[in-house]
Amino acid sequence: MSSRKHLIVLSAPSGAGKTTVARHLLATFPEMKFSVSATTRSLRTGEVHGRDYFFLTREDFRRKIEEGDLVEYEEIFGNYYGTIKSFVAESIARGEFVIFDVDVKGALSLRAAFPDDTLLMFVAPPSLEVLEQRLRSRHTETDVQILTRLARAEMEMAHQEMFDVVLVNTDLDITLSTAESIVREHVEGAPQQPSLFVE
Ligand code: 5GP
Repeated sequence: MSSRKHLIVLSAPSGAGKTTVARHLLATFPEMKFSVSATTRSLRTGEVHGRDYFFLTREDFRRKIEEGDLVEYEEIFGNYYGTIKSFVAESIARGEFVIFDVDVKGALSLRAAFPDDTLLMFVAPPSLEVLEQRLRSRHTETDVQILTRLARAEMEMAHQEMFDVVLVNTDLDITLSTAESIVREHVEGAPQQPSLFVE
């Protein structure tokens, strides 16, 4: 078994900074690819089909489930989201590194499917109060949506100890550089233990 994990799985409550971490890792490591999930939610402004998600009808999504095309899937905020099996299988076969942006249950399912090849990273807000402030300040959600997201955040925070790494995002620069150095060990195959001899 290799200690280098090829599947880097990011999870976090909405608003904790996970998308920024994912973008930073993709920009830093050109050999890294983003696992584009399938979803039934509608496209948001700025999103591109095939780059951010494969936007499917519920009927097409159900067909993918029935045909066994998804590694895992979950229903979140009333929409389905799932990881496409062929993409992951082809990337593994080519020895590539892949970043996943999935919810906590999806992360645990990915670990169950690929136990030797997943690194589970949880990006946590400093507190639920800070998360609420961040969600309110981005003005993209209604009050009801904010409360729904906070309730879900509590459930997600309760799973964080099952992750390999928890990054508490108090200072974004520190969070990004910590995530980068952890992932670099896997991408570049740096020793897991520092050498005792420094020349
Ligand atoms: P959003 O609608 O904000 O893009 O995503 C909502 C939630 O769905 C986020 O927590 C995101 O990580 C999660 N998500 C996105 N793709 C997948 C997927 O393929 N599987 C699972 N389980 N969750 C996903």
